[in-house]
Amino acid sequence: MNILILGAGGREHTLAWKLKQSPKLKNLYVAPGNAGTAAIAKNVPIGVNDFEAIKKCVLSENIEMVIVGPEDPLVNGVHDFFLNDADLKTIPVIGPQKAAATLEGSKQFAKEFMMRHNIPTAAYESFTAQTLEKGYAFLETLKPPYVLKADGLAAGKGVLILNNLQEAKDELKTMLIDSKFGAASTTVVIEEFLDGIELSCFVLTDGKGFKVLPTAKDYKRIGEGDNGLNTGGMGAISPVPFADKLFMARVLERIVKPTVEGFKLDNLPYKGFVFIGLIKVGDEPKVIEYNVRMGDPETEVVIPRIKNDLVEVFEAVANQNLDSIDLEIDERAATTVMAVSGGYPEAYGKGMEITGFENIEDAVVFHAGTELKEDRVLTNGGRVMAVTAYGADYKEALKKSYKNMEKLQFDKMYYRKDIGFDL
Ligand code: AMP
Repeated sequence: MNILILGAGGREHTLAWKLKQSPKLKNLYVAPGNAGTAAIAKNVPIGVNDFEAIKKCVLSENIEMVIVGPEDPLVNGVHDFFLNDADLKTIPVIGPQKAAATLEGSKQFAKEFMMRHNIPTAAYESFTAQTLEKGYAFLETLKPPYVLKADGLAAGKGVLILNNLQEAKDELKTMLIDSKFGAASTTVVIEEFLDGIELSCFVLTDGKGFKVLPTAKDYKRIGEGDNGLNTGGMGAISPVPFADKLFMARVLERIVKPTVEGFKLDNLPYKGFVFIGLIKVGDEPKVIEYNVRMGDPETEVVIPRIKNDLVEVFEAVANQNLDSIDLEIDERAATTVMAVSGGYPEAYGKGMEITGFENIEDAVVFHAGTELKEDRVLTNGGRVMAVTAYGADYKEALKKSYKNMEKLQFDKMYYRKDIGFDL
């Protein structure tokens, strides 16, 4: 089978690495890819939202399946584009259609979905410029901290958590009236603050059945002890030690089943990954958010723990017979640590040469922001590469991730040395 992956990060390199292990794979393409995918697949210089260019590539390279990495093309309707095109409609796309992708594209839509299907989540109300005064009044009924969320996609920056009522009112006004997040904050969701520990649950569904994939916990802040600015993710661990059997049984019954059932009841066709951002409040799971694709860097620890042939699994999703697959999960823990370019998530440099790959032992380096230039691997983004390792438990795996990270170098390289510190 010829497969095209859309995306350019560590998530896409991990998917490519896993698909490469399948005897069913013929040619693998990644658009646009990075230096890591260039080593195992053919990179094609096409943006993930350039649907016409994707079509050309699919037809000229006889692509037989498309795997969508990031949310943007899904929210923009890449799956629908395929279904509505006479030449493309028989080519399976892994990733939901636009209607279901709205679960990530609109917080309000996601909250309404959860309410409709009795899925536990924080209490909320949403407001627009016309209802600003009502928004102030609602804030006055809540206790601090105050959680304000831009409804639309805001590159992971659209959530504000504020300790002070006046500050929360001011920010609400800035979001609604001064378009702090552009069109994304035309509507703002204000919700109850949930106090607990976060984790991610991943589900793969064909729209009928589903498989729960390994859990993961990621570390979002740039600084150690989870301080400083938010990032795309600085490291991850799978499985999550505190997500025990009883807790996961609750997640399955109260969240995963009603979510997949909700897709059917609401007529939201869904073939792809569902990323459920959870918070454990006491012993109870609640949903913080849905994403309609895998997380990054969680993919770098979740996918390596799946033993099945991933081409077969995706074929089952496409053919809606996922129930026929027996998912086999590696008992070992997996951890990943992300190296970033100094300055990230604010201004940072690009084009620094990365060295030391030849010394990696008993670990895998998944490339994120890298590019290949005349046989040299250069940094090309804020998050540069993730080092994944296995171990009997997460501590042993982390030791290997760190030991190998020390062998890699580039100018102003930075990584957190405390992944897993809170477990
Ligand atoms: P979201 O984009 O909805 O995942 O929100 C980003 C981050 O804000 C989450 O990962 C949480 O750390 C935090 N957050 C969001 N909603 C809440 C809430 N209701 N209570 C506490 N923290 C929250």
